[in-house]
Amino acid sequence: MTENSHKLLVIGAGPGGYACAIRAGQLGIDTIIIEAGKPGGTCLTVGCIPSKALIHAAQEFETVARAVSGDNPFGIAAEKPSLDFSKTMAWKDGIVGRLTGGVAGLLKKAGVTTVTGWARFRDGKTVEVETDAGPRVIHAEHVVIATGSEPVELQSLPFGGSVISSTGALALTDVPKRLAIVGGGYIGLELGTAFAKLGAAVTVVEAQSRILPQYDADLSQPVAKRLRELGVSVLTGAKAQGLTADGTALHVETADGETRAIVADKVLVTVGRKPAVSGWGLDRLDLDMQGPFIRIDEQCRTSTRGVHAIGDVTGEPMLAHRAIAQGEMVAEIVAGRKRAWDRICIPAICFTDPEIVAAGLSVADAAAAGIAIKTDLFPFRANGRALTLGREDGFIRIVARADNHLLLGIHAVGAGIAELSAAFSVAIEMQARLEDIAAIIHAHPTMSEAFHETALKLLGHAIHV
Ligand code: FAD
Ligand code: NAD
Repeated sequence: MTENSHKLLVIGAGPGGYACAIRAGQLGIDTIIIEAGKPGGTCLTVGCIPSKALIHAAQEFETVARAVSGDNPFGIAAEKPSLDFSKTMAWKDGIVGRLTGGVAGLLKKAGVTTVTGWARFRDGKTVEVETDAGPRVIHAEHVVIATGSEPVELQSLPFGGSVISSTGALALTDVPKRLAIVGGGYIGLELGTAFAKLGAAVTVVEAQSRILPQYDADLSQPVAKRLRELGVSVLTGAKAQGLTADGTALHVETADGETRAIVADKVLVTVGRKPAVSGWGLDRLDLDMQGPFIRIDEQCRTSTRGVHAIGDVTGEPMLAHRAIAQGEMVAEIVAGRKRAWDRICIPAICFTDPEIVAAGLSVADAAAAGIAIKTDLFPFRANGRALTLGREDGFIRIVARADNHLLLGIHAVGAGIAELSAAFSVAIEMQARLEDIAAIIHAHPTMSEAFHETALKLLGHAIHV
């Protein structure tokens, strides 16, 4: 058995863990990272990246399919499109391969030692790893737990056979003819929209009274409309009860109390993710928990000295860019720099059609915090660029303080709006006021002008509405 000591040991090479290790390596810290699977974690291998590749390919296919039916305003017509789904998936896998290989290269370049295997804690400063070359024991002064999260399984619909998680959906070899999705949140709607565009007959079963309940109804409404246009059937206030005896359909109790059987080749269960806290010796550490998550402070310190935790294992929002920011911060803290979590907002994007961006406080958040606000929106139907793209659905809404006009939140829904998220978070983090946004020239014709116009509208002098 080999035994080594390092200054920093990171468990899990997802966005949190690899960002932490790379930054630590850059700072000259002797760092080792242990990963059971591929570098990149959930995000690069079975999450953000493969899902966005599939979403994009599906959009391309749907554009051609609409041309066949003449359902576009551009006068474009086409013959029947065909889809070689194995090529689509191979293209997606190629992107994943390039990125996971890239992360491995970046770790090496930063001087980080990478070990492939499953880590288990002996105590707060020692882990054992089973590797192909045999067991290893690693001691470290500082440990970072970045073990991520895993899909929530429903007791009535255990994963296996036709019941799949997002990981299974991203590894399908054929587009299912009939796809039932339990959970109309991020994953259910991102993947559901993609499979609908690829030709699947999709039914979404959502327990709450509307899809995307984490966003306000104004934001989710354009998404619901587009799902209807795509022929996706959405059952809200509905409970999935399990497969029928022959396994060919999903029993659902609808909002009005009736039981329906939805015939489905695959049932995709996307009812949330839970922190990955088992199998690595959590019981060996005396860690305080916060619900199912590891409790951390503003420096991502756990209740055990020398043990930090970052990313999905520490709580909501379970987003890659939060994990990355925490990882960088912890590396700098281990290097002795004075750092603490001081971010005002963590933007969130739902890659549905249209996309949704949420940065900072919503109207409801501000009301709950008792802050007096000014709020208004600018619709894309009054934005030249949106019209030239044939997509005038959606809007940008600003929430600002009533007294000093400080931007508190920016929420938007629109085609391709994800790329505007940086403008929104820069404005909030730089503590811009409505007057600042109003004074900045926004290039024409772009959808970003709607951001400018929202600020002008709130100041009482919008030009284009
Ligand atoms: P993870 O990425 O989960 O990585 C944890 C790593 O730790 C894994 O590789 C695991 O193998 C390893 N590990 C765990 N335990 C051990 C152990 N004991 N020993 C060795 N290795 C171990 N977020 C976004 O911001 N944008 C998106 O568009 C987005 N899309 C998503 C789409 C899907 C389908 C899914 C499932 C998730 C998506 N997410 C998205 C969420 C995002 O993937 C996570 O927030 C992010 O990956 C969390 O990073 P992490 O480093 O905390 O953990
Ligand atoms: P989610 O929390 O986004 O959505 C789960 C949905 O399932 C909710 O609408 C919930 O009301 C519903 N639900 C729960 N139990 C149910 C039941 N028994 N029957 C029917 N509906 C039920 O979770 P997710 O879609 O699984 O995604 C998990 C997490 O992954 C997200 O919260 C997010 O942190 C991350 N993610 C992010 C992105 C992105 O940033 N674009 C994309 C995918 C995933």
